[in-house]
Amino acid sequence: MEMRSKALNGTHFVKKHYYTALANQFGRTDKAFEYRMQNISYICCLMGRTWVPGLKPAKNVGPQNAPILERLICEWEGQPYTGRAEFEHKVMAYQAKPAALPAGTQEPKLRYGAATHFARDPQVKAWVLRAAASLCECCDKPAPFITAMGEPFLEVHHLRTLADGGSDTISNTVALCPNCHRALHYGADKLERREAIYHKLPRLVRE
Ligand SMILES: [Zn+2]
Ligand SMILES: [Zn+2]
Repeated sequence: MEMRSKALNGTHFVKKHYYTALANQFGRTDKAFEYRMQNISYICCLMGRTWVPGLKPAKNVGPQNAPILERLICEWEGQPYTGRAEFEHKVMAYQAKPAALPAGTQEPKLRYGAATHFARDPQVKAWVLRAAASLCECCDKPAPFITAMGEPFLEVHHLRTLADGGSDTISNTVALCPNCHRALHYGADKLERREAIYHKLPRLVRE
């Protein structure tokens, strides 16, 4: 996570130094730590977050380890645990080997959790939606539907996420169709897409 913060802030670091320090402290090989970092990338990926460039997500995380990693990431960020990565990791595992027809749950239990939100400026969201003029700022296609309120439906996304210290300003915010929005969080090409948006819209400033 320290490497991730450095990567986000454009601070220089050497990955190998981290692996070597950990290997010396805990007695495994550098390579073993690199692989564990890729497991952390995978959990970040399931959480819809960025990871350290070059540390491609590796998905064979043990079922008990996924929630441990997710909790540590949430703690590091000062965010409450949501269990999102834990859930998606189970979905991936079940997808890999289809089980019998699932019985499901007739009365799903409520799960209470503290939710923290960043206080966002409604004027920023309104300005960005107006600037987009009902077209997705990524693919230029019209908003996919009109809401019950009669508004074209677009979602507002922060290019540097608020959790990563991004600002809630018009120079960090874009209006997107739901497909492009999800792709920017979960797509294999999310970084390329993000770059393309930076090139396309002059109002954006890298943070
Ligand atoms: Zn789009
Ligand atoms: Zn977003």
